[in-house]
Amino acid sequence: TSPESTEEPSTSYCQPIGETGNSQQKEDVPSLLTMDAEHESEAPPTFESIDYDAGHISANGIANRNENSEPIFHVRSRTAASLAGVSQQEQTQYESLDYDVCENKLFQDEQLSRLRDRFSLRTHIIRWIIFILIGIITAVIACTIDIVIEELSELKYNFLKSSVDDNVTVNKSGGDLALPYLWWLLLSAVPVAIGAGMVTYIEPITAGSGIPQVKSYLNGVKIPRIVRVKTLAVKSIGVITSVVGGLAGGKEGPMIHAGAVVAAGISQGKSTTFVKDFHIFKAFRDDHEKRDFVLGGAAAGVSAAFGAPIGGMLFSLEEAASFWNQNLIWRTLIASIISSFTLNIVLSAYHGVSGLTFTGLFNLGKFDHPLTFEYFELPLFMLLGVMGGLMGAAWNFLNTQINKFRSRFVPWRAGKVCEAVLVAILGVTLACAMIYYINDCRPLGNDPTIHPVQLFCEDNEYNAVAALWFQTPEATVRALFHDPPGSHKILTLAVFTIVYYLLSCSTFGLNVSLGVFIPTALVGAAWGRLVAMLLFYMFPEAQFLHPGKYALIGAAANLGGVLRMTISLSVILMETTGVETSFFFPLIIALISAKWVGDYFNDGIYDTVIEVNHVPMLPWEPLPQYKGLTAQAILSKPVVCIKLRDRAHYIYEVLHKCNHNGFPVVDDVEGDRRSEGRVCGIILRSQLIVILLKSLYVENQRFWQQETTIQTFRDVYPRYPSIQSVKPLDRKFNYTVDLSMFMNPSPVRVNTYDSVPRIFNIFRALGLRHLLVINNENRIEGIITRRDFIYK
Ligand code: ATP
Ligand code: MG
Repeated sequence: TSPESTEEPSTSYCQPIGETGNSQQKEDVPSLLTMDAEHESEAPPTFESIDYDAGHISANGIANRNENSEPIFHVRSRTAASLAGVSQQEQTQYESLDYDVCENKLFQDEQLSRLRDRFSLRTHIIRWIIFILIGIITAVIACTIDIVIEELSELKYNFLKSSVDDNVTVNKSGGDLALPYLWWLLLSAVPVAIGAGMVTYIEPITAGSGIPQVKSYLNGVKIPRIVRVKTLAVKSIGVITSVVGGLAGGKEGPMIHAGAVVAAGISQGKSTTFVKDFHIFKAFRDDHEKRDFVLGGAAAGVSAAFGAPIGGMLFSLEEAASFWNQNLIWRTLIASIISSFTLNIVLSAYHGVSGLTFTGLFNLGKFDHPLTFEYFELPLFMLLGVMGGLMGAAWNFLNTQINKFRSRFVPWRAGKVCEAVLVAILGVTLACAMIYYINDCRPLGNDPTIHPVQLFCEDNEYNAVAALWFQTPEATVRALFHDPPGSHKILTLAVFTIVYYLLSCSTFGLNVSLGVFIPTALVGAAWGRLVAMLLFYMFPEAQFLHPGKYALIGAAANLGGVLRMTISLSVILMETTGVETSFFFPLIIALISAKWVGDYFNDGIYDTVIEVNHVPMLPWEPLPQYKGLTAQAILSKPVVCIKLRDRAHYIYEVLHKCNHNGFPVVDDVEGDRRSEGRVCGIILRSQLIVILLKSLYVENQRFWQQETTIQTFRDVYPRYPSIQSVKPLDRKFNYTVDLSMFMNPSPVRVNTYDSVPRIFNIFRALGLRHLLVINNENRIEGIITRRDFIYK
């Protein structure tokens, strides 16, 4: 049963070129090299490969730094710096996902049988069907959230408007806003309390936007309970209550999370929460397959949140994904297009738009006239970008400080709910104060205000400040983009920008389900419009100063400054406002300037959240401090190993005593000196537990060998039983386990002298969980996991 590799002589692992085995090649090569000119012209063209490998290490093991390959903007080394002092408990709080497929004997048997049954084509088609289903179901959930928010906000603000109108009519002299203020407080605090209560007491993982969590998941970190049905339910209700409650947040982040849950649920064909197995889609029950579906779900979620299919796909690739390939891009695009199409159909039916003409959704309102720009405006856009970058970086910093303060001083659950309610109250109070003190009256009918309140204005006029507040933040963004010039006073927008900036900063991080996209866009739109108004004030002749255009650029700049994305944001803004492709250039100028300026100071908000929570996420590039180091510097040893044929009792004890999730399988061991054995594979804790639970011992081999397939292991995915669920072995104490069938026979191995950046690249690119470090004799020297890259 022992694999061939262990029986080979010790030099077989690292064989010098040309010594053995390649004599055939030796004969061929000279014939090509000595080819004369005549032959050369007849010879078929040969294609050689380009050496893209930067070659971090030279033959003598000294690091060979390739200066050209250094990124212009370093991946910031803060991650490692801030994680250095992380406690042992925090280090162990997150496990990894197995994105590397375990191609063991059982897996290969399945592959062969599929080939025979033409099953692989079927799997392929089913995969497409699942992506389409993800698109449809995500869109239906998004529509429901959308419609409920719309209806409830309509009721709320209609009621408030009539309350203000009645009250001011009764109290003509000066008016009294006390009663409407109290109503407003009540109608905000109650929904927020419900939402925050649900998030805090039922499912805390649903707090925040959900994008950092989905991003970590896609990077390979197992975030507990992130893709459960309960999470979806709490998230959906949570986002409805907080948006209706008037908190400074949007629904986009939660919708991405919702899409991810839908994808994870559908693709598995079973619900662990409801203990229901539909016995379908069994082939997709592993982390690797699930990851791809979750990415599709995230794309469908963005697409449904904004009605922006291409933006949705790009968003999930640019921000969420850590791994992608050509096929995946295709499938993700299909999921997001289907999602926005479904959304369009449902919303058209709901709003009574006749027929099935696909008009697009333009969530942020379509610009009626094509947006044009002069060449001399480009530097101005760049300046706006710089301003967005500065404001965004400051926002991220401030928000992080507020959240640190929060986690330190408000650790109790009741306190978290109270805090959310307090922020809601603060928002209402500030809004009321603005409405009361700023006198900004505009003639009615000039712009499409949803709930115009007269307040202290003359007849046929409405209060422009109240108009900003008496609607959902998304509707306010729409208003700022499309209101005609002269709809607001400079003072109104200036105060609104400051108030909303601070409000959104204190809202993100509360224990409620809310996204950060809309408030960020709102702040940006407000100051963008403000800049246009100020410029117009100074240069009244300048016709190019269209306030809507500047609001759009301001929104882009602010989004770039906070989120640090470029392509997807510009595409989302284009798709949601229907601007022409020619306007892509100004948008990208603002976004890139904002991103570069912001990156100089700190990370984007999602990365910051990930870092603050000590999630061991692997960055795209190796950290600069790893340059010049070799595997020796980061590996862990001694390594707990298991023999290819080991005693059941030993395995049972090991699983009880240590928490590791992967164990090298070794052969050629003298007695119990396992760590000196020769590596022949790797086995996961979950597999060992299944082996013990199902008694797959050598002594019983004839009972189980026929019916044990890869499915035996998939059936318990993803909630593997713990070792505590295995009964003490008693009678089976001396039984033997033969791992040759179950282990992964081709684990990725590196040598002790390999450079860390290179090892990191291998680890990162293949989505590994364990990487074995061996010496020239293929004997184990150490093991590297995600934690060794992050905390060492
Ligand atoms: P992950 O936590 O990424 O899911 P894991 O749970 O298998 O993987 P941990 O046990 O959490 O890995 O790793 C903790 C530390 O122990 C790391 O420094 C790692 O290198 C080391 N380690 C992991 N597996 C073994 C092993 N079999 N023997 C000895 N040390 C190990
Ligand atoms: Mg672990």
